[in-house]
Amino acid sequence: TRRRRSANAGMNSTSPTPNDNKLAQQTPARPPLKSLDDALLELLANASPLTSVEDVLLQLADGRVLGNDVVAQLDVPGFDNSSVDGYALNIADTSTALREGLPQSARIPAGHFSGNLVGGTVARIFTGAPIPVNANAVVMQEDCLVSPQPAGDVVRLTQAPTPGQNIRLRGEDIANGQVVVRKGTRLTPAHLGLLASIGQAHVSVLKPLRVALLSTGDELVMPGAVAADALPPGAIFSSNGFFLSTLLTRLGAHVTELAIVADTLADTQAALQHAANDHDLIVSTGGVSVGEEDHVKPAVQSLGSLDLWALAIKPGKPFAYGRINRLNAASCAHFVGLPGNPVSSFVTFVVLVRPFIDRLLGVSHAGVHALPMTAHFDWPKPDKRREFLRVKRNTLGGLDLYPNQSSGVLTSVSWADGFVDNPPSQSISRGDTVSFWPMSQCIA
Ligand code: AMP
Ligand code: MG
Repeated sequence: TRRRRSANAGMNSTSPTPNDNKLAQQTPARPPLKSLDDALLELLANASPLTSVEDVLLQLADGRVLGNDVVAQLDVPGFDNSSVDGYALNIADTSTALREGLPQSARIPAGHFSGNLVGGTVARIFTGAPIPVNANAVVMQEDCLVSPQPAGDVVRLTQAPTPGQNIRLRGEDIANGQVVVRKGTRLTPAHLGLLASIGQAHVSVLKPLRVALLSTGDELVMPGAVAADALPPGAIFSSNGFFLSTLLTRLGAHVTELAIVADTLADTQAALQHAANDHDLIVSTGGVSVGEEDHVKPAVQSLGSLDLWALAIKPGKPFAYGRINRLNAASCAHFVGLPGNPVSSFVTFVVLVRPFIDRLLGVSHAGVHALPMTAHFDWPKPDKRREFLRVKRNTLGGLDLYPNQSSGVLTSVSWADGFVDNPPSQSISRGDTVSFWPMSQCIA
């Protein structure tokens, strides 16, 4: 048995027998598993932020990363204005307004300016219209009794207004000179609206990261290449490239999806070398274990350098980071090798590639804010590795677990609306508080 043989080898350490040598070749020592936190630190240390920026129209800037601080050149709102349709007055006139009413002396729609409010009168005013000088409150029209008179409307109030009521103050949203959106912010629809509110028609954003995506495996067939009922024996449709290219695009990358790479060293080398020349980052899936059919490791090593890690996470154990030298250039492309199993490649993308890309683009506040949630399931046999369980929020405010947590079952991810980040060897009982990563944060 293995145990007895290794004891023999120890006793015989000065002159190993041929048999011992053969054994050592067959079962190389397994490297210790690397924690996700360590892997992330090491990976991010390789990502120096890119600096090339370009100007884009504001309406095309969703998801892009802002290249400089944007400073307001005006106050927003730019003037005190009414937040309701109603009547503007000076509260010094309140008692008359309550007793006999005040005559209407002006009408101010949004977009129009009226100078002074005549003392002892009200101005008809609409939402967004400038408050006239001398007015200091607006009463909504529902709280006014309006009687038409030959000389014009007279407006009586049903209750006393408070100073400043229904007035939106100049600069209460944004002050002139204030930084409105910081460099390194990934722009969202709300940011675009905010930038428009200070008059920006275009913004300076980081140039898109150029990413080449390649799927390795002799068994892979592109959807559409053959009909589902004509798939050859042993073949499967390639799925990883579809979610990865979408996830990358959402992060602001320009993705080139390369043809499926066959499981030979030469094909793998050729695809990688070609991709390195005009991409910042190459992401591959599959072939990253250390089996005879796994050619990614030797291919990357022959073209640059590679670290192959066994991560202490499940799913997603094998992961590679490397660099591939560009032909005729003293520069290189980053390389990231993800596992082939679809769930593993999804999870490693979320936990490692996404932060790596954010660092390359100089995105400041990356990271998932985990939520404490209640497990509505049992997980009695945890793994020794940190697990990312596919779960979904239920209507009772707890989390349900997808029944099949296999790393090949992509349905678990499409069904899920998040992951439970479960510490190593931690069993879960119904009712326990667990750490929930909302899917929206993982893929945004
Ligand atoms: P590998 O990491 O190459 O050993 O692949 C592990 C498992 O993932 C195998 O079952 C592969 O068939 C599967 N796999 C690899 N690449 C893909 C892909 N692009 N789409 C779907 N499954 C894949
Ligand atoms: Mg493979």
